[in-house]
Amino acid sequence: MSDLANARAVLKSVFGYDDFRPGQREIVEAAIAGRDVFAVMPTGSGKSMCFQLPAVLDGGLTVVVSPLLALMRDQVRQMEALGVPAATLNSGQDDEERRGTMARLAEGVVRLLYVSPERLASGSLADHLRRSGIRRLAIDEAHCVSQWGHDFRPEYRQLARVRETLGPVQVLAFTATADRETRADIEAQLFPSPPHVVVHSFDRPNIDLSFAPKDRPRDQIERFLLRHRGASGIVYTASRNGADRLAASLGHGGQRTLAYHAGLDAATRASREAAFLQEDGVVMVATVAFGMGINKPDVRFVVHADMPGGIESYYQEIGRAGRDGLPAETLTLFGLDDMMLRRRQIAGKDVGDERRRIEGRRLAAMVDLCEVAACRRQSLLAYFGEASEPCGHCDLCRDQSAVADATETARKALSAVARTGGRFGAAHLTAILRGDATEAVTRRGHDRLKTFGVGRDRDARFWSTTYRQLFAAGALAEASEEFGGFALTPKGEDILFGREGIALREPRAAEPKTGRRRDAARAAAAMEDGASALFERLRALRRELARQEGVAAFIVFPDRTLIDMAERRPATLDEMRAIQGVGERKLSLYGEAFLAAIAAADR
Ligand code: ADP
Ligand code: ZN
Repeated sequence: MSDLANARAVLKSVFGYDDFRPGQREIVEAAIAGRDVFAVMPTGSGKSMCFQLPAVLDGGLTVVVSPLLALMRDQVRQMEALGVPAATLNSGQDDEERRGTMARLAEGVVRLLYVSPERLASGSLADHLRRSGIRRLAIDEAHCVSQWGHDFRPEYRQLARVRETLGPVQVLAFTATADRETRADIEAQLFPSPPHVVVHSFDRPNIDLSFAPKDRPRDQIERFLLRHRGASGIVYTASRNGADRLAASLGHGGQRTLAYHAGLDAATRASREAAFLQEDGVVMVATVAFGMGINKPDVRFVVHADMPGGIESYYQEIGRAGRDGLPAETLTLFGLDDMMLRRRQIAGKDVGDERRRIEGRRLAAMVDLCEVAACRRQSLLAYFGEASEPCGHCDLCRDQSAVADATETARKALSAVARTGGRFGAAHLTAILRGDATEAVTRRGHDRLKTFGVGRDRDARFWSTTYRQLFAAGALAEASEEFGGFALTPKGEDILFGREGIALREPRAAEPKTGRRRDAARAAAAMEDGASALFERLRALRRELARQEGVAAFIVFPDRTLIDMAERRPATLDEMRAIQGVGERKLSLYGEAFLAAIAAADR
């Protein structure tokens, strides 16, 4: 058999998959041919398979560097569930565990060794691995090496030195982060000579993109959660406080909501993370401290309660949804406060100019994405250098609420800024435009301005939306002396004095219409009634098995496998073998139990 045919056979017999996903074949081919590979692929595209499969195939030792304990533990369990000898060395182990792992390494049976970068860089481990015949070094989450990234880990900087100690090993590096600075950094630091680069499309067509301006955000989120009852998901907030408060106030639909952030003690974090991984339908309300390394394939939604600080982090965070390829939904809430806060955060950071410039660029792209007129996906992909057609399933493709020439409107709004000296915020300016003689307005004599009342025909929401869009478009900047106040920029002056026009979006009706159910349980709804009832039974069996073994449900089988079973109703072990995600090992462990459940349902 050719190498590739061999690889395909192992893909089915060990992993249970019929074919490679896009991008995987090219990487696996290059890897088994001994080439260094740098793979840039979105989350959920199946990067792990690209180093796991070669490790199983050719018998040497593959050392996998991974930044997070949870991620390592998870993958070791997954490998063991498939019958592949795997182990980990990390700081969370006691001496005895460590000795056990070293002994297995010495026997030469371990195919995949997961290590943390600091463990690999310290002491004599690298030396030891060289002597025991390490064949390849796979670096997961390789963007951690880049100091421009939000996940920068100083320990990753030591990997270049480690690689030299290891001698002539093959290097495979993987990341889901693709902006140019990060990519260049990874190539320069991790590879001695230019690697074979595979860049896969960043489109994740199964992830639905939606944005909405904040308008009673708690209610917006609660309504969203109601449509996703029974599904697991993450709600991101900008602050720890925000996470605690929101977690406490959500969940009226009966969902279990937990908060997660770096301010909680380690035991609380670990138990909440375990609950999220192992139970179905937990909603994690978290800061960005939660996420990297969450390998859970069936996260059905990601909500941003606050606008992310940059388009890079946005893409990473929504990418945690729908890794199993089944439909997943996202919702990003944004407001003027977010935009101002994020700018202040960057300006106030104690970092070099270069870093500030890069973060500023990512933030600007994020703001643009909130305010774009056309397809969100198209803009998002354009940021990653990919040209694409309108996607047809983001909020803007679904609802082409018009962007129209709004130069007159903008001039009214900007004139209120100019006539009050460029230091008041949106609420005060809106009162002036609407002709509300509030105490603050009359005290300053702003009820005698020419602008007073010129915007009476539109409501307050319209004007606050207009100010946000003008700020996002760069026509207004934050006034330096007044917190939250606006000043005109040169662009704002050009519009005010008629030298330039501007198009703005009409605020939409409060709630985007999304009656559709697009989740996994809903992928099940798309199944026939009988199949979806069976899917629920199989899920219950999976839950029971996972509980007995103390592992996450998806370690037993992912949703996709259960859906395939529910639709095809295998009656024999041979038919079961043909189900997607069923390899030899799982067939022998669980095959009979699931066959019995299917047979019982048929009676
Ligand atoms: P990434 O590391 O790129 O985010 P993972 O390696 O976690 O993605 O894979 C995502 C999911 O896709 C996992 O549940 C994995 O089992 C599944 N998967 C990987 N390769 C294939 C394949 N060839 N066919 C079907 N499913 C696959
Ligand atoms: Zn679209």
